Amino acid sequence: MTSPLSPDQPRGYYGKFGGAYLPEILVATFRELETAFAAAQADPAFWREYETLMGEYSCRPTPLTFAENLTRDFGGARIFVKREDLNHTGAHKANNVMGQGLLVRRMGKKRVIAETGAGQHGVATATMAAKFGFECTIYMGEVDVERQRPNVFWMERLGARVVPVKDGSRTLKDAINEAFRDWAANMDSTHYVLGTACGPHPFPTMVTYFQSIIGQELRKQVVERTGRLPRRIYACVGGGSNALGVFSAFLDDTAVELVGVEAGGRGLPTHRHAARLASQDASIGVAQGYRTYFLQNSDGQMLETHSVAAGLDYIGVSPILAHLRDTGRVRFESATDAEVVAALALAVRREGLIPALESAHAFAQACKEAPGLPPDDVIVINQSGRGDKDIFTVADAFGDPAWEDFIRRKAASYERKP
Ligand SMILES: *Cc1c(COP(=O)(O)O)cnc(C)c1O
Repeated sequence: MTSPLSPDQPRGYYGKFGGAYLPEILVATFRELETAFAAAQADPAFWREYETLMGEYSCRPTPLTFAENLTRDFGGARIFVKREDLNHTGAHKANNVMGQGLLVRRMGKKRVIAETGAGQHGVATATMAAKFGFECTIYMGEVDVERQRPNVFWMERLGARVVPVKDGSRTLKDAINEAFRDWAANMDSTHYVLGTACGPHPFPTMVTYFQSIIGQELRKQVVERTGRLPRRIYACVGGGSNALGVFSAFLDDTAVELVGVEAGGRGLPTHRHAARLASQDASIGVAQGYRTYFLQNSDGQMLETHSVAAGLDYIGVSPILAHLRDTGRVRFESATDAEVVAALALAVRREGLIPALESAHAFAQACKEAPGLPPDDVIVINQSGRGDKDIFTVADAFGDPAWEDFIRRKAASYERKP
């Protein structure tokens, strides 16, 4: 991946980040996508069609919930929660995949592919493919296929072919390489559904465009409910799509502080984390077709990342967020695994909300900061997804002995079967 898409007139750059570093063979496909996306964006009927689809299929507009008990507990700013967990398939990922589905239909393609690490993006893409009647192939590292059986189970039920990738470390980055290989071989029939606001141009722009529905709704809801704009908005940051989606409607309102929360893992000093923008451990590089901050060593080898939340455990980050960090518009913080599990427990116990471990990062940071703000202020947490579907991971994170016992007995019951 070497030559920029358009070397003399660099498109898709946000400051010094982004671009499209593509193998020659994919350049024409990216041009086609860029043209189709620009035409869709310029057509007001396209956005209306998108809003209608999301309303009828994915519970949009998602509600804004007042977290009354947490507000009382912390005694500071009023805490509101934007409920992306109520989307179909349980997270904001639906906003992106359904939008790309409409675009694929416009382009007249009949097949979609995607890569997935934890499997959530794979399930969302397979769902979209089932709904639109597309053929669907999902690439997944062999190690991840073994770790994420429940998601593989659903992808297969939804009609997707799940291909375990046996190269390299047999995880996400090997699945990405395999997906690009497939795309290069099947460009005419196939669209690659990228899952977050990363990758070569136009993906960061396009994914942010679809996710901006979160911020548009929130702006209206929060003004209606409280008569004011929020003082701060918190969102977790994996690739950056839910954060960009909720931040996008407030970028020009400099009084609204935007806070991105990354995976602090075992703690920044241990270097076992996935904090690209909140730590000093990442450096600028080009990989996977774009330029951003990567967690890499001085030879450009990617480092081992760690997070209790699989969706945040990623070496790169959206070039748009990298730029918003460098311009000072978005502040980046990190929350450790331990803080996140505590915040999740609190949200469940005090509000009956069940955030995904990813989303609980935003809760953790908001809980740290809420007590220091006056009661007139409003803060919003973007609850990017729901945690009840991640029962295996969440139960492990809580270390629940009764659950472990249940799993042991369940496994034993299979061993007894003839
Ligand atoms: C995938 C995922 C994320 C991380 O992705 P972003 O692109 O950073 O939004 C966050 N939360 C949930 C619930 C997810 O499933």
